[in-house]
Amino acid sequence: MDVTPDFDIVIVGGGMAGAALACAVGRGDWRVALVDPVPPAPWQDEAPASQGPEDYDRRVVALTRASEEFLRSLGAWEQMAAQRISPYQGMYVWDADGTAHIEFQAADLYEPSLGHIVENRIVTGALWHQVRQLPVQIVSQKVAGFARMGELVRLTLGDGSSLTSKLVVAADGAESPLRRMAALPTREWDYEQHGIVATVVTEKPHQRTAWQRFLPEGPLAFLPLHGPDDRYCSIVWSTTPEQARELLAMPDEAFCAALGDAFEQRLGAVVGVSRRQALPLRQRHAKHYVQPGIALVADAAHTIHPLAGQGINLGFLDVAVLADELLRARERGVDFARLSVLQRFQRRRMGHNLATMAAMEGFKRLFGADPLPLRWMRNTGMRWLNEQAWLKNQVAALALAQDMLPKRWLSGVPQERVATTGLAH
Ligand SMILES: Cc1cc2nc3c(=O)[nH]c(=O)nc-3n(C[C@H](O)[C@H](O)[C@H](O)COP(=O)(O)OP(=O)(O)OC[C@H]3O[C@@H](n4cnc5c(N)ncnc54)[C@H](O)[C@@H]3O)c2cc1C
Repeated sequence: MDVTPDFDIVIVGGGMAGAALACAVGRGDWRVALVDPVPPAPWQDEAPASQGPEDYDRRVVALTRASEEFLRSLGAWEQMAAQRISPYQGMYVWDADGTAHIEFQAADLYEPSLGHIVENRIVTGALWHQVRQLPVQIVSQKVAGFARMGELVRLTLGDGSSLTSKLVVAADGAESPLRRMAALPTREWDYEQHGIVATVVTEKPHQRTAWQRFLPEGPLAFLPLHGPDDRYCSIVWSTTPEQARELLAMPDEAFCAALGDAFEQRLGAVVGVSRRQALPLRQRHAKHYVQPGIALVADAAHTIHPLAGQGINLGFLDVAVLADELLRARERGVDFARLSVLQRFQRRRMGHNLATMAAMEGFKRLFGADPLPLRWMRNTGMRWLNEQAWLKNQVAALALAQDMLPKRWLSGVPQERVATTGLAH
């Protein structure tokens, strides 16, 4: 006997990835539910005040052009831009023990920017604002159980109720309870590093440049934020768990002094800091992204060191490709929940995710290595690459990742518009 499921697609987790997927597949083609115990507050159109470092979300992401395009096609980008996004035109990377550096400029690529720094709460809030206007059922519960019932999946919710679906998508983050419940195995390793995040105020303007210094304990990034006199930055300071504990315990003044020293006072003294938070850094990759009736996306499928700001950019590509495959199956009259459809998504994404993770791991090891020959190699390599304009531009163009986005998600809005209409703050 055929049982009619409650939904065609249930998305578990309403972070950036889950909310983006709900926008992409929730336009009425299917009965879609988005399940998250803590949906964000309703969207406010006015930009949040930026009178002090506490007015910013401590968690930010550097978004590539591909992510921008995808978010634009989902209708979220204009909302984000109306609140607060921070385009950056330069990137400057250097090594603690050498004299070499590498520098990228958007103008060399004839691009208006290399990307945008955006607070996580703005990305998530703008996506939820779109979801709330779509025929998507919002379920404010956590998922507590997973079971297969023939071709369907049954999810048990925190309040003891349950719902059934043809397909469930786990977008429930790095610890993914759903991945564990569905017994999808991962490979993972601890970096023995914590990332301290905070918003800081510097003496000198950030020059709309993303700065990163490689220290022996881990990289330190200053990411430019839109704010008074361009003097606000979001920092990610990756270091040992012991040093992270010490840095968190310091009074603000001592922390600012230590941070300024670690950053070689590139932007003058650090004169203000928000509350700080340390996040453990792990690399993790699911051995399979799909099984019958279930697919994993974004952090539920893979987490990566934040040194190159790729985590949710890879996650948005997962979401864009999964939605592309589901819509493609529908257009061809094929059952969208078929394992072969899900496997096409896995084939299109796993190689790129693994290659990016391997490259980041290589960077991390090269820059974390202390032996003299390796220090010489990375300084000579950086100096050499910085002088090779063509090659350097190829590397930067790869990082924009525009080619990876399925065509149906290209918004077609010329990028110059963003730079000239004042949409971008
Ligand atoms: C220090 C740091 C800096 C970073 N910088 C960058 C960057 O510059 N660029 C970049 O691209 N990426 C960056 N990342 C990575 C990026 O933050 C993550 O990739 C992104 O937040 C993952 O989004 P997600 O939607 O997959 O998961 P999450 O944001 O973790 O969302 C998961 C959602 O699932 C919900 N959930 C959990 N359990 C359940 C359950 N049982 N039932 C229902 N719902 C559930 C949660 O409430 C949450 O809303 C950084 C990460 C760190 C740690």
